[in-house]
Amino acid sequence: MDEAGVGRRQFMKYCAGMTALMAMPPMATTAFAKQLRAARRPSVIYMPFQECTGCLESLTRSFAPSLESLIFDTISLDYNHTLQAAAGHAAEEARLEAMEENWGEYILIVDGSIPTKLNGMYGVSESHTFMEQLEQTAEGAAAIVAVGVCAAYGGVGAAYPNPTGAVGVADLIKNKPVINVPGCPPIPEVMTGTLVSFLANGVPDLDAHLRPRAFFGNTIHDRCYRRRFYDRGLFAKSFDDEGARNGWCLYELGCRGPTTYNACATIKWNGGAGWPVESGHGCIGCSEPGFWDQGGFYEPVTAKLFTERGESIAAAAAGVAVGAAAGLASKARKKKLASETE
Ligand code: SF4
Ligand code: SF4
Repeated sequence: MDEAGVGRRQFMKYCAGMTALMAMPPMATTAFAKQLRAARRPSVIYMPFQECTGCLESLTRSFAPSLESLIFDTISLDYNHTLQAAAGHAAEEARLEAMEENWGEYILIVDGSIPTKLNGMYGVSESHTFMEQLEQTAEGAAAIVAVGVCAAYGGVGAAYPNPTGAVGVADLIKNKPVINVPGCPPIPEVMTGTLVSFLANGVPDLDAHLRPRAFFGNTIHDRCYRRRFYDRGLFAKSFDDEGARNGWCLYELGCRGPTTYNACATIKWNGGAGWPVESGHGCIGCSEPGFWDQGGFYEPVTAKLFTERGESIAAAAAGVAVGAAAGLASKARKKKLASETE
């Protein structure tokens, strides 16, 4: 770090930023810095499968830490199709070498879903199916981080009629810790934060869908700045009406914030410049299992919508509760408006 011109103050500032991002108490900063300083640069193998490179595009826009600092200061990125100079056999050799040298210790990052139909023949590289490559590389990994909703739950590749039989990493790999960082794409700081957290403290506390609770512990709705309008029953009726322009809640336009767990409303996007709901579009639930088919992009969240699309009982219950609350708030508002008019 000294050689790279990173001073103690800068390093501690970075550690404090990470602990704040992960909602850890301030005293965790010192412990975090100690563990991070002690950590040897661990080998990371990044395998892209059935994907669009959007997750890597997002990762390269991380600002805390930046991708450069992550690659050069914290991890040793030994294999990544898109970023590495080597190609073909040379690239394949780099992967096998990194696996052999770091057996049992490397972190495997996966983006993209894994096609399983026709014994995985929809995805083949270097004469091996993606299924075989995943199973082989997972064998010597300390843990697997599945970035993007596709690697986590099948995502866009698994959308109806799922012609390739796309699945997520945890559907295939059962004998290694899998940490899901879903999103389409995931927030870059959530990806880098999860990696750094793993380096410092091992597998973080995960929810039922294997997502780190530090970043996926709250719904978008819990932290949304439009929430005060939701609570008052003020809903935009179209994307360009006066309500929408005044920041009213987008629930009736299909916002999935009430049933979507992610950190968009707090960490935001593009270095904290903004986030989708702030830009005027409802959340489409990109970090939830079932995205894309269960997006419900422009229908209000209701129990009917959930049950028709086969979503979980918990999601249906949340949908009912939110729908009922929205209905009551809306009725109360109409009553108030009526009495004011009288
Ligand atoms: S429904 Fe959507 S726009 Fe409305 S408060 Fe919740 S997250 Fe925000
Ligand atoms: S607001 Fe919702 S759909 Fe948009 S990026 Fe965040 S979780 Fe995904």
